[in-house]
Amino acid sequence: MSTVKCVLIICDGLGDRPIEELGGRTPLEAANKPNLDHLASVGINGMMHPIGPGITPGSDTSHLSIFGYDPYAYYTGRGPFEVLGMGLPLGYEDIAFRGNFATVEEKDGDLVVSDRRAGRRLDEGDELARSLDGMELDSHPDVEVGIEHSVEHRCAVTLKGPQLSHKVTDTDPHTPGQPLLSCQPISEDKAAQRTAEIVNLLTSKSHAILSAHEANKRRKQRGLPLANAILLRGAGVRPRLPSLREKYGLRAACIAGAALYAGVAVSVGMDLLRVKGSTGTVEVDTLAVGRAAVEALADYDFVFVHIKGADNAGHDGDWEMKMRMVKKIDGMIGAFRDSLDLESTCLAVTADHSTPCEVGEHTGDPVPIVIAGPGVRTDDIEEFGERSCVKGGLSVIRGLDLMPLLMNLSGRTEKFGS
Ligand code: ZN
Ligand code: ZN
Repeated sequence: MSTVKCVLIICDGLGDRPIEELGGRTPLEAANKPNLDHLASVGINGMMHPIGPGITPGSDTSHLSIFGYDPYAYYTGRGPFEVLGMGLPLGYEDIAFRGNFATVEEKDGDLVVSDRRAGRRLDEGDELARSLDGMELDSHPDVEVGIEHSVEHRCAVTLKGPQLSHKVTDTDPHTPGQPLLSCQPISEDKAAQRTAEIVNLLTSKSHAILSAHEANKRRKQRGLPLANAILLRGAGVRPRLPSLREKYGLRAACIAGAALYAGVAVSVGMDLLRVKGSTGTVEVDTLAVGRAAVEALADYDFVFVHIKGADNAGHDGDWEMKMRMVKKIDGMIGAFRDSLDLESTCLAVTADHSTPCEVGEHTGDPVPIVIAGPGVRTDDIEEFGERSCVKGGLSVIRGLDLMPLLMNLSGRTEKFGS
């Protein structure tokens, strides 16, 4: 049997709930999307519980599940994915955190967080991170500290050395007006205690370095909030995942504008392709992303494309924006009609979870899915949407079922039994 290539498009947070102003339709149902509807009509449709019925997925756990890795067995925290997605090296023994540059003020011996994002725009992020990267912790000379700025106020922090553990709490209080938290071990073992000590040292030393930094003097003069502390969260170690090549013999690539999704993809062995216009925001150039995905099929068997904007719109409660994102995605699917041969390529479009505009957060509602390609048993569905796909030929699947389904359609599965 000849093998077929696959393109998997995950539209982050695309699923939604009925909206009164849209006459009880979801943004996906209400949007004009002739190409997605055409895809539904030539494909097989269904609903997918990314992790399981009623489970509210995080984007990272959901992507793991959709790539075929049980997140309950493999998930070790968000930090390592962010670090890998930034293209930084991360060994399996290293500890990774997500970080924020933040504004803190001293009050009664505490450092109170007045702005968790130091104003969000942080043009000085690179130089601030450089001043902390490689800092020496006198009492722990065997630990190497890595700090790298990503975008806006965000950074990634890594610890390399012996006897480290990710079983420690966040220093980020998650709510402004609260004191920066002391890092605590959440396990009895020595490594967790030692790591918590190191994190607390690192935090106070960062505060001292950042407070005296020239960049903060300039920010003060311009009336901007100081970036005088780092807040850490999501400690994790790189999960040991068998790669997609080991599992399915796939050469796989990823196009994702935001670090988290790219990081999950890298951790399952996908190559990261940088594409101009793949912004990870609502500004994404979906046509450029689509073109890059088609080009990547020359070198890869499996191309994963992550489109973020619909989730942002859901979090902002902005259903008009979500409809605009659907239109952008529809434009990419339209371009595929000319550039992607569904006789030799399997195309799947789905979401990693629902982010209903009226909730403003992820929910456990299932998401629509369509798969088109050679050999697909088509059904009677002619519209891609939350209500229509329920009646499709795939019926209801879990995220973990998707890769086996795609591998079956692409002729890559081996017979179980004789
Ligand atoms: Zn997501
Ligand atoms: Zn989200």
